[in-house]
Amino acid sequence: MALKNYNVAELRRLDVEHHLAAQQDHGMMRDIGGARIITRADGCYIRDAEGNAILDAMAGLWCVQVGYGRKELASAAYEQMLELPYYNTFFKTASPPTIELASKISGLLGGNLSHVFFNSSGSEAIDTIIRMARFYWQAKGQPERHVIIARENGYHGSTIAGASLGGMRAMHAQGGPWVPGIEHIRQPYLFNDGFGEDPRAFGEAAADALEQKILEVGPERVAAFIGEPVQGAGGVIIPPETYWPRVEAICRKYGILLVSDDVICGFGRLGQWFGFQHFGIKPDLVSMAKGMSSGYLPISAVGVADHIVEVLRSVGDDFVHGYTYSGHPTAAAVALKNIEIMENEDLVRRTREDTGPYLARRMAALAEHPLVGEARSLGLIGAVEIVSKKGTNQRFGGSEGPAGRIVRDICITNGLMVRAVRDSLVMSPPLTISHGEIDDIVDIIAKSLDEAAPALAALG
Ligand SMILES: *Cc1c(COP(=O)(O)O)cnc(C)c1O
Repeated sequence: MALKNYNVAELRRLDVEHHLAAQQDHGMMRDIGGARIITRADGCYIRDAEGNAILDAMAGLWCVQVGYGRKELASAAYEQMLELPYYNTFFKTASPPTIELASKISGLLGGNLSHVFFNSSGSEAIDTIIRMARFYWQAKGQPERHVIIARENGYHGSTIAGASLGGMRAMHAQGGPWVPGIEHIRQPYLFNDGFGEDPRAFGEAAADALEQKILEVGPERVAAFIGEPVQGAGGVIIPPETYWPRVEAICRKYGILLVSDDVICGFGRLGQWFGFQHFGIKPDLVSMAKGMSSGYLPISAVGVADHIVEVLRSVGDDFVHGYTYSGHPTAAAVALKNIEIMENEDLVRRTREDTGPYLARRMAALAEHPLVGEARSLGLIGAVEIVSKKGTNQRFGGSEGPAGRIVRDICITNGLMVRAVRDSLVMSPPLTISHGEIDDIVDIIAKSLDEAAPALAALG
């Protein structure tokens, strides 16, 4: 296929004149003269309009599991579009790929999660969960059970409901009022909040915050608890192994629904099909999105446990919820093909047994760097904590400094796309990444940290 010849200066001008990008400082976007124009991608590399090749250690936005340039996915979309590009699921109707994908995903979820509800984004999946969990309790004759407990620094999307459920201080500071009936508890962030503590005891204490909150709210008012198996956008916070089993036990003790937001951890990221499977828990509702179609088309889903489906089936009326694009046939066809590729290339096992452990070994070496306080990973997701004093968790320029952004910008200049979260760099590369590319990620981060040292020191 011939490469298109873009007028980059004109595109950047139009970008400033007409486009508001997601999650951006719009004044800054104007001042820097528009976005970096990404024109194409192949494998684990993206390419900008200036011709720079950048190793994409973020897999787009935690989602391009099988890498870029997969012709099979393009063909799946093309063929489905010719046969049936779109139809809805409102009118007692469904399309073949939608049904096949529901069946496929329920098999991957396992246990009693036999049903799947489709949406187009992670945020929409979260909205579905809030509405379904609250309706479930209402239908069971306990409408007062509507409170949902989530975590500080959790991320559940950017719609009003998603941002309300999320525990992102920066989001809550903008606008409001937020969706009522949502409570937040502490996060299991050992490096920041329990530095030097015993991880097992710390994990249990962080889980016990859930029980305290349930008792404070009143158990008869709590509908559900939601958390990401590993917090992604919050900074790749990997909880101690004592955390999730204790959270699950507390949910069972009080009879509240356990929700796993697997939007990032799903589709092999932690070396299992779903993140909750790594931690050995059995959620009642599971949201998934990123990785589901490797980002080639927007699609998301909610896995629903049988006992919830039974209640939905018993109400004798519509559950008045769903989207125009719920079960979109073309997106479903691409997701099915994406899962097929992941199976054929054994990407989940490879992440668990090969590339994940390899990344962990390379991260352990990176942890020796004088500016690194911790370099942690699980499967193919990881974070590098930048500290001002080796052996501590002290930050440059005081708390929540700009260290991450400084190093990230240098990484990008050096040909590596990573993301900055406060004082850390986070990564979640395509599951197709090679050992050599993992070496490149770690080497470029080490080199970029060296180059950033003077600018970091200037922060004090
Ligand atoms: C990205 C994300 C979402 C929101 O997904 P969108 O597709 O951006 O709406 C929800 N939950 C988690 C855990 C996420 O990482």
